[in-house]
Amino acid sequence: MRNFDAKIKADLHTHTHYSDGYHTPEELIIRAKEAGLSYLAITDHDNVDAIEEAIEIGKAHSIEIIPGVEISAEHKGRETHILAYYFDYKNEELLDYLQNFRKERMKRAIKIVEKLNELDVPLQLEDVLSRVKGNASIGRPHIAIALAEGNFVNSYYDSFSKYIGDDKPAYVKKPNISSREAIKLINRCGGLSFIAHPGKSLRNNNTLFELIEFGIDGIEVIHPSHNESDIDYFKDITSQYFLLESGGSDFHGGRINDVSILGRFYTTEQNLAAMKNRLFAA
Ligand code: AMP
Ligand code: FE
Ligand code: FE
Ligand code: ZN
Repeated sequence: MRNFDAKIKADLHTHTHYSDGYHTPEELIIRAKEAGLSYLAITDHDNVDAIEEAIEIGKAHSIEIIPGVEISAEHKGRETHILAYYFDYKNEELLDYLQNFRKERMKRAIKIVEKLNELDVPLQLEDVLSRVKGNASIGRPHIAIALAEGNFVNSYYDSFSKYIGDDKPAYVKKPNISSREAIKLINRCGGLSFIAHPGKSLRNNNTLFELIEFGIDGIEVIHPSHNESDIDYFKDITSQYFLLESGGSDFHGGRINDVSILGRFYTTEQNLAAMKNRLFAA
């Protein structure tokens, strides 16, 4: 077996302005390179538009871009984020699905603004839309920033705790695909599926084991929301169930989190090689 270089870092979870990230793919890639990363997956929420552009830019900066996406899904009413890698990002079924889901995201953003207006928060839809790039996935973070910058709340986080967090008065659910269907769709596109940031809520939880039964390929073991005990727990699960391990920073940039997170949360060259082996074994 070949030796792996333990110093090689792969960040398999980042966002750009094609969803709720702050940076363009090029700005993100430059920051990733400066942070010492050799591999980078851009995993925008429900959007693959960064990938082709990023692969080209990556070549110029000697950083390998891995095709990725973070799909908003749900299982038994609970939202689960499914990360996909190495899939055919030009697959028409996938592109149609994502395009339609972004339309649903837009309808939901309009409903959230209406609810805010009913709650006497005079946020204008335009204040939100002006922060969203063309065909990007509009999400609650865009609304949270608009609320904070319009001084309707004291901070980005207050937007969630007062208004738009899950079950708060201006919250509106997205019509998510089921996790089972998301995993199948990723399979049909030739990719690998991972449970994103399972965290405390999926420890010893049936949802975790049901997603494994549905055929998930791996678990995101390394994530800023995981402590040492979470990491040990999910690592054990991956070895017990012969699953792959991934990891990343979930970097969004701008107001959501700062650049210092890049280079600190990553997976190894060995785990990346295991992913590639599984693809070729399939
Ligand atoms: P959406 O996909 O539009 O429902 O937005 C979900 C995103 O909003 C998550 O990926 C987080 O980045 C952010 N978010 C959700 N809840 C909170 C919260 N309570 N505090 C801060 N950010 C949150
Ligand atoms: Fe996000
Ligand atoms: Fe997520
Ligand atoms: Zn993410």
